[in-house]
Amino acid sequence: MPTNSPNSWEARADSHNLYGFTDLPTIHSRGAVVVTHGKGPYIYDTAGRSYLDANSGLWNMVAGFDHQGLIDAAKAQYDRFPGYHAFFGRISDQTVLLSEKLIEVSPFDSGKVFYTNSGSEANDTMVKALWFMFRHEGQPERRKILTRVNAYHGVTAVSASMTGKPYVGTFGLPLPGFIHLTCPHYWRFGAADETEEQFTARLARELEETILREGPETIAGFFAEPVMGAGGAIPPSKGYFQAVQPILKKYGIPFIADEVITGFGRTGEVWGCQTYDFQPDAIISSKNITAGFFPMGAIILGPELAQRIQDASEAVEEFPHGFTASGHPVGCAIALKAIDVILNEGLLDNVRALTPQFEAGMAHLAEKANIGEWRGKGLMGALEAVADKDTKRPFDSSLSVSERIANACTDQGLICRPLGQSIVLAPPFIITPAQMDEMFGKLEKAIDKVFAEVA
Ligand code: PLP
Repeated sequence: MPTNSPNSWEARADSHNLYGFTDLPTIHSRGAVVVTHGKGPYIYDTAGRSYLDANSGLWNMVAGFDHQGLIDAAKAQYDRFPGYHAFFGRISDQTVLLSEKLIEVSPFDSGKVFYTNSGSEANDTMVKALWFMFRHEGQPERRKILTRVNAYHGVTAVSASMTGKPYVGTFGLPLPGFIHLTCPHYWRFGAADETEEQFTARLARELEETILREGPETIAGFFAEPVMGAGGAIPPSKGYFQAVQPILKKYGIPFIADEVITGFGRTGEVWGCQTYDFQPDAIISSKNITAGFFPMGAIILGPELAQRIQDASEAVEEFPHGFTASGHPVGCAIALKAIDVILNEGLLDNVRALTPQFEAGMAHLAEKANIGEWRGKGLMGALEAVADKDTKRPFDSSLSVSERIANACTDQGLICRPLGQSIVLAPPFIITPAQMDEMFGKLEKAIDKVFAEVA
């Protein structure tokens, strides 16, 4: 909230923080929300105001902000053994236990896990692992990476190159060899005379034509989020993964599911690839893996890629890659607890139980004259604002409609995320029906207020 005092938390936050992904003029005038603590799905600022965080932090605080079991697991591991690495054949017992657990809950019968500190690093590492593998298999020219427009895979130089958003251009990215295919969002990118099935078939043709144009022998991998998250909670068009998977197989291109958001329950199954019924060669996990209580990313390799990367490593004696905190014992202990909490303490059940209420709330708001569509899966969804519902014409971007809606939500004690012209919701899995009513009630007020101003 705005304040003129130079000693206010808001002014101090402004003075010494280089904000990432933040609308700076807005934050300079409104002030940052400086958070002190949380309780359940709520966060509290320095003035004691509460906010229902309908984005679970950044999709990740799925067990809420004060889960005692997770806090206890962290404390217990700090008491036992507070830090170690996973280099040189030394590895913590918690890391061993977590890798066993991840393979057990993965869609793979067997495999191997590699740890990072973040989702970006996990994607970056996966690309390097593919380059490494193909090089030692005698195919060093297999380096190109296929992703999609609107994909979000992270912010390191490689994962930002995979990200299909225009802002990566402000860093002079993507690097050469990163190719972005059409976003599988039928409502926005389908042609007027095209059915959803025809749209999917067109995207599959585009994939195959791209592979043939570039040369299959130059392509190292295809990465996809089961539901695009930061692109605006975009589920795939009907049959999309069933259409692309055989093409990738035909040309020997590994298919990597980026499940940083969808992994561990967000779409109502443990994995998004289970929700959409496809079998990737590897899974990228982060965020929910520790319910946001520790920075961690994990690459879960299915049996074939695990073996091939292992063979390549043996050929040169080692896989020369790793982070100081890869497989950190405290992170692993927290992840073991988080997985237990999500799968066995009712969180996944709650996602499934509350999905109908979530869908009904979204469908109700989508009836508004200036909401073009609602989309989503499980407990992730978006409402897309439009100036004209029939033609799907967006609002003039200078009106900042979604940002204004999000600000009007914040003013009422609700956090939701503007992404392009859409408002994205991804509440924590512990949300109650009453809290969900509170979320939709406040969002409706904000939407009505802003549309009355701009429409
Ligand atoms: N992949 C996906 C699908 C994501 O949503 C994100 C972050 O939101 C990332 C990768 C990057 O993860 P991190 O922010 O931990 O680097």
